[in-house]
Amino acid sequence: MAYDVIVLGLGACGAAATYQMAKRGAKVLGIDRFAPPHAFGSTHGDTRVTRLAIGEGAHYTPLAVRSHAIWREIEAETGADLLTTNGGLIISGADAAEFHGAPFFGNTVVAAEKHGIPHEMLDAGAIRARFPQFAVGDAVGYYEPSAGFVRPERCVAAQLQLAGKHGAVLHRNEKVVGFGATPSGVTVQTDRGSYEAGQLIVAAGPWLPSLLPPNIAWLFKVYRQVQFWFDVENAAAFAPDRFPIFIWDLPGGRGGVYGFPALDGPRGGIKIATESYASTTTPDTMVRDVSAGEARTMFDSVIAPYIKGVTSRCVRSLSCLYTVTPDFGFVIDRHPDFERIILASPCSGHGFKHSAAVGEALAELALHGQSTADLRAFLLSRLTVHGY
Ligand SMILES: Cc1cc2nc3c(=O)[nH]c(=O)nc-3n(C[C@H](O)[C@H](O)[C@H](O)COP(=O)(O)OP(=O)(O)OC[C@H]3O[C@@H](n4cnc5c(N)ncnc54)[C@H](O)[C@@H]3O)c2cc1C
Repeated sequence: MAYDVIVLGLGACGAAATYQMAKRGAKVLGIDRFAPPHAFGSTHGDTRVTRLAIGEGAHYTPLAVRSHAIWREIEAETGADLLTTNGGLIISGADAAEFHGAPFFGNTVVAAEKHGIPHEMLDAGAIRARFPQFAVGDAVGYYEPSAGFVRPERCVAAQLQLAGKHGAVLHRNEKVVGFGATPSGVTVQTDRGSYEAGQLIVAAGPWLPSLLPPNIAWLFKVYRQVQFWFDVENAAAFAPDRFPIFIWDLPGGRGGVYGFPALDGPRGGIKIATESYASTTTPDTMVRDVSAGEARTMFDSVIAPYIKGVTSRCVRSLSCLYTVTPDFGFVIDRHPDFERIILASPCSGHGFKHSAAVGEALAELALHGQSTADLRAFLLSRLTVHGY
């Protein structure tokens, strides 16, 4: 057999898995329909929030902690700047809504206490005094010094670089059109050829549903999201040493907004986004362009009333895709029809921060049959037995 493992998709999750397996000496072939990092899937836009106390559930915390450690290792090996822990602020109010399918603020505090993550609780006055950029009324804040942001494109590039250095074979701009089982492994067909391996990891991000049978494909819904960069009056007031990453459950059920410090110089602005679940789409049919009207609505409804010192000048915008399961949790599990195929969807809008550790867990799962990380919460059967 030419390869121990084939990885379908070299985005956040696939690049991490390919790197981790190559580092362990496995013969790995990674295939991607584009040349990652690219801007067509879920892993672009310069920054992703990372935090260790995970509001989606305390069981994610070990993955985030491990990912930070892996990124530090990769930084030391490559010289890339991947992770900045400038602190993170989560703001919520008495009328807190669910975020990512969970009582997010309360879960964050529980996860911090359970896993001993250093943090501070701030009342509204303390938030205003420390971070005057936020026009908070009646609210409470959770501040975590170890939170911050990670650079998705750089992480993918660094892991693919190291994977290649450790002997992984990388096929870019090659599309997988089919896969299946052989008596002793798997076969993968692409628009260029056909390959065999002991196992296959499917890490196709928002393309995953198109590669699955209908009875499970429908569990993965794809939604268009938009990331905006708005200019600020004083970039120094939004620099990472004065402005944290933030997630704010806005009052009155207006939904969540999150953002980052200014990273692109005096006129580069700050990145801010909300989430949209209005209608589903696919990577091949979505509207990629962002209209001026979308930027205006974003500024008027979410930025102007709540964040001081941000101007209405939108300097950049990008669309991107969430792949969302019914409970907003990951799926990392064997394919129900093929024992030698692993499905990896660290998805639902919060996967990047865990992706380095998910890659390590996938490597262990594929090469040794089980992972050190506890992946039981990510089994597909939790979604199918509950009848979604
Ligand atoms: C706007 C936005 C904001 C986000 N913010 C955060 C955040 O702040 N914090 C956080 O932790 N997470 C965040 N996320 C989520 C996180 O970015 C994603 O969960 C993660 O990047 C998904 O990675 P992936 O490997 O599953 O998919 P991708 O990185 O999209 O990789 C899939 C790859 O598969 C390839 N592929 C697909 N089909 C084929 C085929 N047939 N043949 C060959 N190759 C194929 C694609 O080309 C692609 O490279 C955000 C996501 C978005 C969209």
